Amino acid sequence: MAEEPVAAVVERGQSPKEDDVDMADAAAPPAQEKPDVNLDDLFADMDSDDEEFPSSKPPPQIATQDSNSSSPSDEVVLTPTSDQNIAHMNASDPELLRSFYQRLFPWRYLFQWLNHSPTPTPDFENREFAFTLPNDAMLRYMSYRTSDLLRKDVLRLMPTRIEIGPSYTTNPRERKMLQNTAGFRPLSKELCFDIDLTDYDDIRTCCDKANICNKCWRFMVMAVKVVEAVLRDDFGFKHIMWVYSGRRGIHAWVSDKSARTMDDSKRKVIAGYLEVIIGGAQSGKRVNLRRPLHPHLSRSLDLLKSHFQDDVLEAQDPWQTPARAEKLLQLLPDKDLRDALRKKWDASPGRSSLSKWADIDAVAKTTTSKSFDPRALLDAKQDIVLEYTYPRLDINVSKKLNHLLKSPFVIHPGTGRVCVPIDTRRLDDFSPLEVPTIQGLIREIDEWKEPEVKPEKPVHDWEKTSLKPYIEYFRGFVNAMMKGERGDGKVKRERGEEEGDGELW
Ligand SMILES: [Zn+2]
Repeated sequence: MAEEPVAAVVERGQSPKEDDVDMADAAAPPAQEKPDVNLDDLFADMDSDDEEFPSSKPPPQIATQDSNSSSPSDEVVLTPTSDQNIAHMNASDPELLRSFYQRLFPWRYLFQWLNHSPTPTPDFENREFAFTLPNDAMLRYMSYRTSDLLRKDVLRLMPTRIEIGPSYTTNPRERKMLQNTAGFRPLSKELCFDIDLTDYDDIRTCCDKANICNKCWRFMVMAVKVVEAVLRDDFGFKHIMWVYSGRRGIHAWVSDKSARTMDDSKRKVIAGYLEVIIGGAQSGKRVNLRRPLHPHLSRSLDLLKSHFQDDVLEAQDPWQTPARAEKLLQLLPDKDLRDALRKKWDASPGRSSLSKWADIDAVAKTTTSKSFDPRALLDAKQDIVLEYTYPRLDINVSKKLNHLLKSPFVIHPGTGRVCVPIDTRRLDDFSPLEVPTIQGLIREIDEWKEPEVKPEKPVHDWEKTSLKPYIEYFRGFVNAMMKGERGDGKVKRERGEEEGDGELW
């Protein structure tokens, strides 16, 4: 059983949203155990076979977990007992979760992703992890020297949720021991974005609240396209990973060094640049852009136009009912035009949103109103397209360096789905409803049969499951990022030497 943590338990606050957790204070957790593995062995070759991933070598069996074991190989791989029951097990069932963390979670790639190098650096060592424990208490300011120490502590504590915070000026566990507590501050973290389908409830008609389907998932596809274009084309970021949040949203993590080291004021500028939808569902017209449009908004409109036709007008039929049609009318500028359209639509109940959208221009052409301004109508129509397609960001997640965000590859306790990274090269193929669940994955390991021609290398458990493409994508992403990082480091070292010369003189 997991030991009860000694002191660093913070009761979970009344955060309004599942991912919206602000800085809370906590007492220091027990001192961190010293690494007892040879780091050179663990990280000598980042592409070498992976100790952390159990393979099918030892037959799965039930054993008592030994939290004091001194090397990964001492641990016995666990698997839940009866296959038939797995499908009915709760996603946060401790036995299932232990199997998942032990056999499938990509600890080493997670380490490399957060560390930006195969060997431990302060980027990882001073990085905050926060755990939600099975009793819902929250454990803040946890930190680890290596992926193996993190993995062991997760197996000891069995958190149902793991969140990632910034790297601090010093080890977060030691912050209480500092003479000068003001010296403890966040230094760097990925630039993050959070988009949640519940923020689309006033425009999606297929689902609401926590429910999603492939129709409303299209709003996430639109969001990825627009935010990607901004981050890559306007800000020049390269290492952007999108992660399904396990139920109804997505997160973006930007790992470029120039993004990670931004302070809050710079993050705010980027958040402000992206923010177009203002106010809540009840606040009337939510897009009010100045003209001429900023080039990034013209580009967004171009990206979103076809989605507006297919995924909004056709698939969602957002102005089907008279009450919803009235909402559209309120976004149009001319009273005579509104009256004429209302009359037309009242006369043909059930008229589709596609037809209603086409009606606007058709009726406008015949208007005799002297005050009618075609330019104002065009602007209003552009604003409407954006109001119904443009990403609705939870902007607070992006503004703060110290905001916590759920780690990739954790299990959503409600759906059992893994928070998998999304390969944006195949964005249209991704379906949240087909993302592997913890129950399904554990069953897949058990059902896996060794091929007749014995593979040369032992097959990792994750390779036996439908998690494989997601871990391979993650591995590729992390390797590309580390490659980029080595380039950055070289440039910096050279500059550092020049500065050193200057100091001598
Ligand atoms: Zn839906």
